[in-house]
Parts: sequence; C-alpha cells; structure tokens
Amino acid sequence: MKRKLSFLVGIAVGIALTVGFISLVAATPTEEISPVKARERAVYAPNSEDLGPEEMRVIACGTGMPTQRLAQAAACFLVELGNGDKFIFDIGEGGAERLASLEIPYDWLDKVFIGHLHGDHFGDLGALFVGGGIAGRHSPLRIWGPSGATPELGTAAAVEHMEKMFAWDIAGRLGQTDIRGFTTEVHEFDYKQAQIIYEENGVTIRSWPAIHAIDGAVSFSLEWAGLKFVFSSDTFPNRWYNEYAQGADLAIHECFIAVPDLIEKFRLTPEAALQVGTQIHTPPEAFGKVMSTIQPRMAVAYHFFKDHDTTGPVLERIRKTYDGPLSLAEDLMVWNITKDKITERVAVVNEHSWNPPQVTPAIPVRAEDRVGYSPEIWAGRFDDVDDVIKPIYEEAGEALGREFPYPSDE
Ligand SMILES: [Zn+2]
Ligand SMILES: [Zn+2]
Repeated sequence: MKRKLSFLVGIAVGIALTVGFISLVAATPTEEISPVKARERAVYAPNSEDLGPEEMRVIACGTGMPTQRLAQAAACFLVELGNGDKFIFDIGEGGAERLASLEIPYDWLDKVFIGHLHGDHFGDLGALFVGGGIAGRHSPLRIWGPSGATPELGTAAAVEHMEKMFAWDIAGRLGQTDIRGFTTEVHEFDYKQAQIIYEENGVTIRSWPAIHAIDGAVSFSLEWAGLKFVFSSDTFPNRWYNEYAQGADLAIHECFIAVPDLIEKFRLTPEAALQVGTQIHTPPEAFGKVMSTIQPRMAVAYHFFKDHDTTGPVLERIRKTYDGPLSLAEDLMVWNITKDKITERVAVVNEHSWNPPQVTPAIPVRAEDRVGYSPEIWAGRFDDVDDVIKPIYEEAGEALGREFPYPSDE
C-alpha cells in the first residue's frame, strides 16, 4: 500500500514537472540565439547609448557612508536629461572618481547641487573643481547649496574656503595649463524656504528644508519634460519631503544601516547608534513609511553599506512598511526613466578610462603668467638633463610643425 502510494505520488510529481517545463519552454522568447550576433545586455556601458529626447538617466556615483570603502563612494547622483543637461546632486568623497568613469566631457559636469555640507555629501567638490578644471571644464564650476544658521555655516563660505585651500594649487598652474575652469559660481539659497532655485532650459529644481544634524540641510526635486526626480540628501523623515516628493518618478531617500549593524559592524556605541541611526538619519522602517506615503514609480534607498549580511535586514525592515517598487542602491546603478518605463541596471565601467574629449578647446598658456621660482630654487636644477629634455621640445616641434622655445633659453 505504501509502495503504491509513493508510486502515485511519483507520477503526480512527474506530471507537474512536465507541465511546468512545457510552460517554461512556452514562455521563452522564440528569438533565435546566434553564436555570432550580440544579444541584448542587461548592463549599461558608458558612452554607448543615446538618450531619448524625453528620457532621463540617473546614475549612482556614490551610495555609501562618511567612512571610506572601495565598493561604495559617499553620496553622489548624476542626472542626465534628453535635452543635453546634466546635474550632479551631492559630491561626497569618491564621487568624482565614479563620475570620471562615465566618460562624460567635463564641460557638461559643471552644475552641482549640494544638500548639506557634511563631508560625505560635498567632500569631493575639490576633486571635481581641480580634476574637472584640468580635464576640460573651461568655465566656472556652478554650485548651488543652502545657507546655514550663520553665514560661516553656509555654502558660499565653504566654497570660498575651498578656493583658498587651493591657493597653491591654482598659483602653481598659472601659465602652465588652461585654468579658466578654476573658478566657481556659487548660488547660496535660504535653507528654510521651500522654493525654486533653478529654472533654465525647461528644467525646474526646487529645494526644501531637511532635518539633519543642525539647521542648514535641504532636499531637492528636478522636474523636466513631465518627469520628476527627487533626492533627499540626508534627513530625518519630514513633512516637506512627503509633500514635495509627491508624483515622483524616481524618489531617492536616505535609508541608514539598521541599528544592530551600526553597533556590531560600524562600531558605534549603542547610544550613538540609536541617535545617529534613528534621529539624525532615517531607519529602514521609516524609509518604508515615507515611500508608502508618496508612492513613487520607483523608490531608491541609499546611504548604507550594502553587504551580503546587511542587505537582508535593511530589506526586511523596509518591507514591514512599504511593498512598492524598490531599488537598494549601490554604486554605478543606472535608472533610465521615460513616461512608460523605468529600467534599473548597473554600469560596467572601464577602470582605465582616460580624460574624455574637451568640448571647448583649451587655449594656449602664456609663459609670462607663470609665478616661477625664487633664484635659489631655480639654481638647484640638474642642468645635465637639458640634453635629454631639449630633444623632446624639438620632437614636438617637428611633429606639430611649429617651434616650442625651451624654458631656460627664454
Ligand atoms: Zn549628513
Ligand atoms: Zn550622509
């Protein structure tokens, strides 16, 4: 009897498997797989895809935390629009490197919106200022950021001091390379107001207050061609985000590591973990509540170290309060957004890519602009190397058909 039963069960399982297999085969596209033709790829390779006239592409150039790790830079998101405009939202440490891997000419990476002045949200501004200025941005770096409770806590003061910090860097480049990009254009706006801070070329960017650490943090939305991108920077859940993020196509909001992991893995004291993880930032359960309130087409959680053992707890806690579309962000995640569709992929970048082409050509430098050396430093030059360096000037002259005077002969 027992044997008969197991035989019948065996037949039933066999039938179920066969039916399952047949339906699987039927669901497979009939498109022929060729050994020589490329198939559609599920990755984004920079500089390989056109952007549609009404399409938005968002790339995570940093999704991590204020401490450094190779896998995740600190906060940085790039928004590219089908009208050609590009915007950087936050530029935390390591963000400039990810931006560089996207092979975008630096003339187009000239607009930065900073949500607050924590290092993990603007710590790579200097890298973009200097590196972008050398690599092809021949115009000021345009920066939008909030005021602070006092003038010295605002964006204008921070950028002014950044430029002062680079005094030697800039002096050392005068007359050596085209340094027209080594200037800034700062637009500091009132952190307390919900307001439009940018309106050009059909693009509207708004800012509103965030609640994070002290006064002076804000969040942003970007609207263009009927699409809406929202970026929290850092904040405790707040009523402004709930209001102004309504109708978002892509809503990015911070989502901090769960408190137990802040204690065990991030090594905070329990008191600090509770304060930082639930009062300064947004814990996953609260992120879920925010998203359930605004119901975006796609919710994006960022600002946690995404590991095999942290992703599960974060997701589980979010799912207690939100069951809609969700991306758990990691560096180089890419979203293509149109009115009909949102796709999520990961960019595969060339770690060895060089500077992209310059849109605005560099202008020749003038030797008379050089700051130069004091006589005692100049006198320390090893003269014997002139014999081997002079031919490099001659070689360049022959190759390019004009004369390049050797500096010590001038
Ligand atoms: Zn912060
Ligand atoms: Zn942060």
